[in-house]
Amino acid sequence: MSGVSVTKGAEDAAPAPAGDLVVLSNVNKHFGALHVLQDIDLTIARGEVVVVIGPSGSGKSTLCRTINRLETIDSGAITIDGKPLPAEGKELARLRADVGMVFQSFNLFAHKTVLENVMLGQLKVRKADKKAAEDKARSLLDRVGVGTQADKYPSQLSGGQQQRVAIARALAMDPKVMLFDEPTSALDPEMINEVLEVMQQLAREGMTMVVVTHEMGFARSAANRVVFMADGKIVEEATPDQFFSNPRSDRAKDFLSKIL
Ligand code: ADP
Ligand code: MG
Repeated sequence: MSGVSVTKGAEDAAPAPAGDLVVLSNVNKHFGALHVLQDIDLTIARGEVVVVIGPSGSGKSTLCRTINRLETIDSGAITIDGKPLPAEGKELARLRADVGMVFQSFNLFAHKTVLENVMLGQLKVRKADKKAAEDKARSLLDRVGVGTQADKYPSQLSGGQQQRVAIARALAMDPKVMLFDEPTSALDPEMINEVLEVMQQLAREGMTMVVVTHEMGFARSAANRVVFMADGKIVEEATPDQFFSNPRSDRAKDFLSKIL
């Protein structure tokens, strides 16, 4: 049942119900001979939190990267808010701002302060004025619990703090959807929770989120839906309760037996 959004009943309603924010239809992607995304159908409703899990190499990162066009697709279609992804130029920059992305490696600008990191996109892409950008950056840094670090450089912060800055930087663009690609995988264990808590808070506030993670506690408590990928395909989609207590496919059973 891939591609079926869990919100709103009407299965046979007219196309593109108002609740659908990100729609991937029959998406295919190759890297040379490797068919890395195979007939992916996935619909993400506004306000929905989708956790993507699956073995290493199954295509989870590539899936995320196609949604903000860090990777192109070979066939199929992706729309955000009903509009196809722009190919280039200013519109592509705006798309990247609308689709916030947080990576395993925090990707902050090393030669800019924390505050400047969170102001930059607002100034360049959103054309905010400097005072407004700074006020917003400071308030977001407070919100993710690193307000006192604003004038430091990324290397002076812990990994958990840097990742929270990266989240604030993405939020500063008022994204429609946030993609998280293994945001806690590079962190020391004691820093994982401080990042997951910020993500939990975002989820509670209604942010639309796609989260690739091995943190099953987060999946259980924050996800509306779990998408299980293997070998470039969506093998299974279910609520966290269904998925963890009663996985249907052998691939999912095997995967869960290794990580739980
Ligand atoms: P996951 O995030 O689930 O571990 P990825 O999407 O990173 O999986 O990768 C899926 C497959 O595509 C892997 O076999 C990986 O080696 C391959 N791959 C990813 N990016 C590239 C690339 N830029 N060029 C060639 N192969 C790639
Ligand atoms: Mg990956």
